[in-house]
Amino acid sequence: MYVKFWGTRGSLPYSLTAEKLKKKLQKALKESLKYDLKSDADIDAFIKNKLPFAVRATYGGNTPCVEIHSGNKLVICDAGSGIRDFGTDLVRQQQEKNVAIPSVFHIFISHLHWDHIQGFPFFPQAFVPGNKIYIYGYHDNMEKIFRYQQNSANFPVSISDMQADIQFVLLDISKTYTISGFTVKGIKQNHPGVSYGFSFEKDGKKVVYSTDAEHRKGLENQKYNFLEFFKDADLLIFDAQYALLEAFDTKKNWGHSSNILAVELSVRANVKRVCLFHHEHTSDDNFLDKFLADTRNYLSMYARENPLEIWLAYDGMKVFCD
Ligand SMILES: [Zn+2]
Ligand SMILES: [Zn+2]
Repeated sequence: MYVKFWGTRGSLPYSLTAEKLKKKLQKALKESLKYDLKSDADIDAFIKNKLPFAVRATYGGNTPCVEIHSGNKLVICDAGSGIRDFGTDLVRQQQEKNVAIPSVFHIFISHLHWDHIQGFPFFPQAFVPGNKIYIYGYHDNMEKIFRYQQNSANFPVSISDMQADIQFVLLDISKTYTISGFTVKGIKQNHPGVSYGFSFEKDGKKVVYSTDAEHRKGLENQKYNFLEFFKDADLLIFDAQYALLEAFDTKKNWGHSSNILAVELSVRANVKRVCLFHHEHTSDDNFLDKFLADTRNYLSMYARENPLEIWLAYDGMKVFCD
């Protein structure tokens, strides 16, 4: 099983401006002067080993969309602007490699805030006749909000005019489902307007997608319901939009969580890997590099021997759960 991140930014897309890119290039070129780089291989190794992520790359700017893949089955979490890149990459694969690409898509929606649905009008596969697209969620106004997003004042093409067969499926939180070969469960999360997390299990592997969730009430309790939901996950995708102080102080009740809680809940639930997700849209790459380093340092203080892997998700990142 693997997970590919197509959109990792919270609330609003983020762009890498010309000025920010210039600063990265300046740093990279200055550093390169210390080395005798003669070949493409030398340059590749220099970029990979000598430059921090914030200099050699970018965490990216799309709003949430995550692909979970196992064998030839896949599900998608959320339809933020990342879903456009997911779809165009499939088209690229089809054109360049002449491979068969899926015609049925299963998209799980955590909630209906704009950053989690805004990519859908640009999802190329929704315009392909014969494709089937199932959109699952727990909000009973889900179909209404999707249709409203594409009313004529907002977008030129309505949902009804998209050529794929698009079905909205309302889920029941008390039930466990088998969808696209995955065992799927949900959990209600504390967030303005309520959001839901999803757990996907297949072939003994478990991925939990839990974004836009503020953890507060009952957190210290040994039986806190998220501990069971996250238990033994091979990968937990966790809303860490804020640092701890912000989450508990200036941004209390904004519906998001922190990197510190990502560590503590992961350790308590025996999670193998956690990916910090839903990055604050004002945070630049240097800040996020430090945020990841701080989070790893915190783990070394909180539970020194714990083998938890901590990553900070970026657009295009692939995490294998094997
Ligand atoms: Zn969000
Ligand atoms: Zn939200």
